[in-house]
Amino acid sequence: MILKGIEELKSFLGTPRNIVIVGHRNPDGDAMGATLGLKHYFDKKGHQATVVVPNEYPDFLHWMPGSETTYRFDWQNTQSQKAILASEIIFLLDFNTLHRVGADMQKNLEKYPNDFVMIDHHQQPDDVKYMFSDVTICSTCQMVYQFIEMNNDLNLIDTAIATCLYAGIMTDTGSFRFRSTTSTTHRIIADLIDKGAQNDIIHNKVYDANSYGRLLLLGQALSNLQIFPEHKTAFITLSEAEKNKFDFQKGDTEGVVNYALSLKGIIFAAIFIEDAEQKIIKISFRSKGDFSVNQFSRNHFDGGGHDNAAGGKFDGDLETTIKYFKSLLPTYTNELNASYDA
Ligand code: 5GP
Ligand code: MN
Repeated sequence: MILKGIEELKSFLGTPRNIVIVGHRNPDGDAMGATLGLKHYFDKKGHQATVVVPNEYPDFLHWMPGSETTYRFDWQNTQSQKAILASEIIFLLDFNTLHRVGADMQKNLEKYPNDFVMIDHHQQPDDVKYMFSDVTICSTCQMVYQFIEMNNDLNLIDTAIATCLYAGIMTDTGSFRFRSTTSTTHRIIADLIDKGAQNDIIHNKVYDANSYGRLLLLGQALSNLQIFPEHKTAFITLSEAEKNKFDFQKGDTEGVVNYALSLKGIIFAAIFIEDAEQKIIKISFRSKGDFSVNQFSRNHFDGGGHDNAAGGKFDGDLETTIKYFKSLLPTYTNELNASYDA
């Protein structure tokens, strides 16, 4: 864990400040829950906080309290730049390095004259002035709760804050099932429910918000599944044509990789998604046990993330990417077989 400058930060926040809170590109439940949860907390403390994310987030996160106040840097650029310019400090949430906000926003943030605070649980973080970084914690939302606790302000957590933080902890732990989910996580979740988070409604809004097209796309993804039992590995592909056929919307492929990981005996799963716009294959990796997909992705796919959930990309078509991926597996035979008794 890295804790840096927290006492100094506390005293800086002792007077009302203009604050911008930033999440990573393609914000997920944890990024949105953490940024909005922290915003509600700061507003309650008398600050003026604005959430700016690089681009749009999926429809199934738009119900979150405060969502209507967020700016997307790409299509709400003027408002975003204005907010950043007016701010006295920027909080970076749920990412470890500036390039995770995308090139345009990165350029803008690199010119920022004031200080950054990072609250994040990804490995190998950049060094900024104020830091709360811990790779053992399941979610940035849990860290925001603990940040509020460090400020002796748990009593300020209301329904809006509790709802945002619950949603992010839920999504980043695969509904409280990953190894990173600890007894502390459950105690925090219990407190968030006591403070107004309605667990059944939050699960429903995030997980039972499928469109018909999304289910058909899932059907297509599952029929593309390939399994390699000798490497305890399975992967899924989705081409641009398949995405278009089923009216692909942002967020539609979120969680699909977990179906590959749900196969009995499989501990390493991947999904390869063609992105014609960026001209890359975007990849999500998931694993169980000791096999580090963060390392795998760093080594071969220009990516990273956590030990059991990481992402990366490849320049090339689907066929080339898959051929390359399959060629790597034999190198990892022993590691994959020793990772976890599935
Ligand atoms: P997902 O597969 O859900 O997109 O991402 C899983 C995890 O990997 C997340 O924690 C995310 O921040 C990280 N991740 C996804 N894509 C990339 C990438 O291209 N580079 C890095 N460094 N991390 C990524
Ligand atoms: Mn996260």
